[in-house]
Amino acid sequence: MFSPPLAGTTGPVSAVLLSAGLLLSGCSSQSAQTPTAPATSAPVATPVAGETVGSGSPSPSATAEALDGLTIALDPGHNGRNSRNPSEISRKVPDGRGGTKACNTTGTATAGDYPEHAFTFDVAVRAGDLLEDAGAEVVMSRADDDGVGPCVDERGQFAGEAGADALVSIHANGTAETSASGFHVIVVDDAVHADVEEPSRAVAEQMVTAFEDAEFDPNPAYGRDGVVARTDIAGLNHAEVPAVMIECGEMRNRDEAALMESEEGRQRYAEAIVAGLEAHFAEQ
Ligand SMILES: [Zn+2]
Repeated sequence: MFSPPLAGTTGPVSAVLLSAGLLLSGCSSQSAQTPTAPATSAPVATPVAGETVGSGSPSPSATAEALDGLTIALDPGHNGRNSRNPSEISRKVPDGRGGTKACNTTGTATAGDYPEHAFTFDVAVRAGDLLEDAGAEVVMSRADDDGVGPCVDERGQFAGEAGADALVSIHANGTAETSASGFHVIVVDDAVHADVEEPSRAVAEQMVTAFEDAEFDPNPAYGRDGVVARTDIAGLNHAEVPAVMIECGEMRNRDEAALMESEEGRQRYAEAIVAGLEAHFAEQ
């Protein structure tokens, strides 16, 4: 079981966590590109983390040591009490390009009211366990699933402040059309921190391969090859390290919702994320 998010860090995000319990997130599903069903569910119990009931196989030996000694930042989208704190969540924060954007959003949910924030936190905890098993240090943007925020700017900044080698922001999409399915990976376009643009895309491409190897299909509605470059994701704009946002699937799709609601499914997503990181860093 990996240690709680941000343990051992002293940056602003941890200060926020400790002092005010604030947490935020950035969801691409709030953009014009990504229709979103409103999250109407009440907060659920914090997901049980760390159970390894997955079906995945161990990492290939060729990449098994690729993560040893690295620091990986994980950003589980949204938070459990965002919907109860609209004024805090809607306040404007820097979008990383000179404008502003809402601090955070509530995220989406399955038809069965399993919320995105619970899904993303559980997948992040599972991925964190796997990363630590592989020798990586893990820092997270939020410590639990019972808080508010953090805001989208901090969700990008914390990775750089932690000296992370990569940032993975974990989300699930909420396209209203229930026939929509599949994952997609978002990277920054026209990056403010230009040196991260190319390595971010490299991480994204490995993530796509890893997801496909895990038998997840890309959502054909989003770009070619499962990777979409955008300028409107504040967390990615603020990231000073290679960063990707993964929309693991569509929560309004019945089959993918069932997968996300299952521990086995969440473990598969976590394993795919770690496999993508392993493959990327094995080539560095
Ligand atoms: Zn989201």
